[in-house]
Amino acid sequence: MLIGGIEAGGTKIVCAVGNSTGEIKAKQSIPTREPDETLAEIKNFYSDYELEALGVGSFGPIDLDKNSDTYGMILNTPKTAWKHYDLLGSLQRHFQIPVYIDTDVNVACLAEYRHGVGRDVSSCLYITVGTGIGAGLVQDGRIFQGRSHPEMGHVRIPQHSDDSFAGICPYHRNCLEGMASGSAIEKRYGKKGNLLGNDVNVWEIEAHYLAHAIVSYTLILSPERVILGGGVMKQDSLFPLVRQKVSELMNDYVYMGDMSEFITAPELDDEQGVKGAIALTIGM
Ligand code: ZN
Repeated sequence: MLIGGIEAGGTKIVCAVGNSTGEIKAKQSIPTREPDETLAEIKNFYSDYELEALGVGSFGPIDLDKNSDTYGMILNTPKTAWKHYDLLGSLQRHFQIPVYIDTDVNVACLAEYRHGVGRDVSSCLYITVGTGIGAGLVQDGRIFQGRSHPEMGHVRIPQHSDDSFAGICPYHRNCLEGMASGSAIEKRYGKKGNLLGNDVNVWEIEAHYLAHAIVSYTLILSPERVILGGGVMKQDSLFPLVRQKVSELMNDYVYMGDMSEFITAPELDDEQGVKGAIALTIGM
């Protein structure tokens, strides 16, 4: 049985074909252009396959409230051509098979839970630290949804004493995403994180923000594992710093076990998106 999985990002869209075991049989990346143009390329890729179902992990925000008139639509996005685009509806009309949609970070979390570093626990939190910051929680195979989906990247965090940066979130200025996303790093230092090398101060400040958020998430959600993915986390020195700061801030209040197992990198080599999108189509 072939299942389609789409990871729809702001700059590229990855289309894949796989099966329920998490095996990917074919994959293609296309640039995200205007919706109609992009959809034509998606349809073209899948024209060679007979799919049973299709799952989509999309950039957001998207409306995931099944009772809403705009369910499955992209909401407010800086990508104006996609604003209010009915992504779910267009795919359903074309493919005429069951189509499932969720946020990119929720499906990444589901993929790691099913096939990756979360497969031995019953709850995990996945945080992506890239251009933006988002997080998703899976417990017992189910993605936590709430009314639509959580927006954990926008929690407030205390300013680092050595950081005078004002923050870049258009809604909250110095929320987590406004201070610690890849875009915030680039704005603060005038270059991308991967060009900042091992500058201790840069990663010390970054770890401070991430650790504060992880402590709050842990106190509220009590995940068994916290998975940190996204481009910014390719900076290896961040992991030990974040673990150390989370330990210090928690101060033994909550048992977190071995910190290198509690806070960990993802395992699925940037295939979380498509594998999670495929996993969305499969019941528990
Ligand atoms: Zn914000």
